[in-house]
Amino acid sequence: MEEIFAPKPKAGEPWDVVIVGSGPAAFTAAIYTTRGAASTLIVGGEKWGGQLMLTTVVDNYPGFPDGIQGPDLMVAMRKQAERFGGQFVQSSVESVDLSKKPFEVSSAGTKYLAKTIIIATGAATLWLDALGISKLIGRGVSSCAPCDAPFFKGKRVAVVGGGDSAMEEALVLTKYATEVTIIHRRDEFRASQAMQQKVLGSGKVKVLWNTEVTEAVGEAKLERVLLKNNKDGTTSELALDGLFIAIGHKPETDLFVGKIGVDERGYIKVTENSKTSVPGVFVAGDVHDWHYKQAVTAAGFGCMAGMDVLALLAELKG
Ligand code: NAP
Repeated sequence: MEEIFAPKPKAGEPWDVVIVGSGPAAFTAAIYTTRGAASTLIVGGEKWGGQLMLTTVVDNYPGFPDGIQGPDLMVAMRKQAERFGGQFVQSSVESVDLSKKPFEVSSAGTKYLAKTIIIATGAATLWLDALGISKLIGRGVSSCAPCDAPFFKGKRVAVVGGGDSAMEEALVLTKYATEVTIIHRRDEFRASQAMQQKVLGSGKVKVLWNTEVTEAVGEAKLERVLLKNNKDGTTSELALDGLFIAIGHKPETDLFVGKIGVDERGYIKVTENSKTSVPGVFVAGDVHDWHYKQAVTAAGFGCMAGMDVLALLAELKG
């Protein structure tokens, strides 16, 4: 039998930490807080596990030389978090009250009291609202070139979007694919000049301006996309093996709007390390990291938040 390091609090007493979310940041934070003997509740949402539950093979998470299926990785992380006493609730948080101590986190009709909170709610990929896209996610349609580009060695790929992410995705893809096309709905990119120059100067990327994807076509996997030029109305087709959507992400902050500081992009603002504008509330992962958005960086941020919670709890104990 494993020793439980982090027992539940007594009835009516607050949890040392309530973690909202259930991706790599949330579970890594819980591994650290439970091993630090802090009572830890993870409110993981009805659909738990975050973005990796929608992924197939993950080849860039260290420790798995042959890769690991995204859902298997999340099940393993959850088990590891529960091993030392982390309590997992598979329901969504309806509201949080950060105005009083202990904080209150309400989920499925229960009010949980918390000495500290870690926000690890992640960010949702914005997918194109076009026919066939959702069906082909993981079957040629992707949102992460650093994760999936090696699968497209010698293949034809396109990136949708005109921001810095689209430029980055395209540059990564040029190392593998034989044809890289950026499909952008306007006649200029919004990406920084530096990134634009890298892409346009590479000589390896073709751009379709003023063009929208109206449908992704394929049965078992993506075969082609249907395109429409929004200036002259002409339509065309492009045969493709991969379509990378880079039209932005939405941080999952709805629960915290008006209660905690956010940056100009709407991501939770970090004041120092993993601290937020509300003392006792910490943040980890894609909900504050607009830049890297990787499972391994989210896990690293989770570790930081877990350690910062333990430091605060030790301070509070005196
Ligand atoms: P973004 O800057 O919001 O760009 C999104 C792009 O997708 C825009 O070009 C937009 O077109 C297009 N788009 C949005 N909705 C669309 C739709 N429904 N159909 C077709 N196209 C659509 O997002 P991002 O590129 O993910 O970048 C987010 C933030 O991270 C930005 O501040 C960016 O500078 C930053 N970032 C920085 C780096 C870096 O410094 N290395 C790397 C990545 C991201 P329009 O232009 O027509 O609006």
